[in-house]
Amino acid sequence: MIWSRHGTKGCGPMTEQQRQILECMFGTNSPCMTYPRMAYSAACVLTRRCPTCKAALQFIWLRKGGKYSSFDKHRQFLPADHPFRQDVKNFTKGVKITEIAPPIMTGAAIHAQIDALRVNDGGGFVGYGEEHAWTQKSGLWRLPYIDDILLPHNIDVMHTEKNWGEALFGTVMDISDKTKDNVKARVDLAMLCDRPRYEMRSPGPGRKWKKTQADFVLTRAQKKEALEWIQKLQFPDGYAVNLRRGVNLTTMRINGLKSHDYHIWIERLLPVMVRGYLPDNVWLVLAELSNFFRQLCAKELSRAVIADMEKMAPVLLCKLEKIFPPAFFNPMQHLLLHLPYEARMGGPVQFRWCYPVERCQKVLRTKCKNKCKIEASIAEAYILEEVSNFTTKYYGEKLPSVHNPPPRYNAGDNESSLSIFRGQLGSASDARYKTLNHEEWRRIMLYLLTNLSEVEPYIG
Ligand SMILES: [Zn+2]
Repeated sequence: MIWSRHGTKGCGPMTEQQRQILECMFGTNSPCMTYPRMAYSAACVLTRRCPTCKAALQFIWLRKGGKYSSFDKHRQFLPADHPFRQDVKNFTKGVKITEIAPPIMTGAAIHAQIDALRVNDGGGFVGYGEEHAWTQKSGLWRLPYIDDILLPHNIDVMHTEKNWGEALFGTVMDISDKTKDNVKARVDLAMLCDRPRYEMRSPGPGRKWKKTQADFVLTRAQKKEALEWIQKLQFPDGYAVNLRRGVNLTTMRINGLKSHDYHIWIERLLPVMVRGYLPDNVWLVLAELSNFFRQLCAKELSRAVIADMEKMAPVLLCKLEKIFPPAFFNPMQHLLLHLPYEARMGGPVQFRWCYPVERCQKVLRTKCKNKCKIEASIAEAYILEEVSNFTTKYYGEKLPSVHNPPPRYNAGDNESSLSIFRGQLGSASDARYKTLNHEEWRRIMLYLLTNLSEVEPYIG
């Protein structure tokens, strides 16, 4: 620990290790961006301000959609001579961008901002929602090392990726209550952009409003093919089982998708699923997005790759802005811009994202049997588990226990004297009788004879 109980011990110059520990702590304890709170912020806190850009970046308000959007807020992060900056057609119509990117705030700058907060008479801080999004001052800001922090916030990659996956899947599959390309989005698009093909036109009196088919949406036949493909996919055991199980060909959607399913979908399935269905220019950008997340979530990160990704992120967002309507870009979508920088500062994402926290929460939730004494119920179950863990350490080797579970496959002893049948073999399911045809019998014999070491002396 870098911090003693009394808060004074070890307050000399901060070592690199101490700095990393402190950044880890802030990753999980920051007042603005704790892991679970990040999920919360995706829905409500993160509506007006980016936690990294803060007041320097103002999201736009979509009048018809009634929500904030980060559309056309990424051209300022491009190099000064990038052609997208001068594009008056594909982004906000008639607008060129000359501003430069807002600086990334250091721990010292945020500390100064927090010190300047004034308490409101009715609770909260003055200017909340307009100038800042602080709801509390954490005690961690009193740490003496706080000003040296390079990464004061930790954006949760799990929820960011899930948000992207959800928005993309709903839009590409045109799921009525999930798509970001609805009628309101088309009306907002007509106000902001110069894309006459996608504008809603009055259908005439007594007739129903209808959207034109967008480039990034699959047709009904393509959706059916894609879902049938997902239904037939073979994944490794326990990898993405819900993706297959949840496919519903009647409603043309996949039910019960969770964060990890979107993680698999966006990183592995998306480019394959839409290839050949969407135009090449759209597919290329989606494949680039998929590759972006795959590289970001790699077990090991290369500094050179991350540096490239930092440059690539705003270009990728701009390319997506050229394809999708403004309503697609929630403020959460903007966070993709900061993920490579955070990975450079904080290291690989698997140490900073929310999966382990949520899995632990699930385990704890299942321990809660008595709903009126939640904490005591969890504590009692946890102690029982600890006791059983320690006692079973002294059990015999062959006795099944939590430390010595029976193998899931091929359980049972085998007494064959032939080498090919030795080892932990056995039936994986109930035995069934089958009469082999000649071809099957020939193949089995060939396999046995070519893999039996006992036969080797008799061959050639
Ligand atoms: Zn930002």
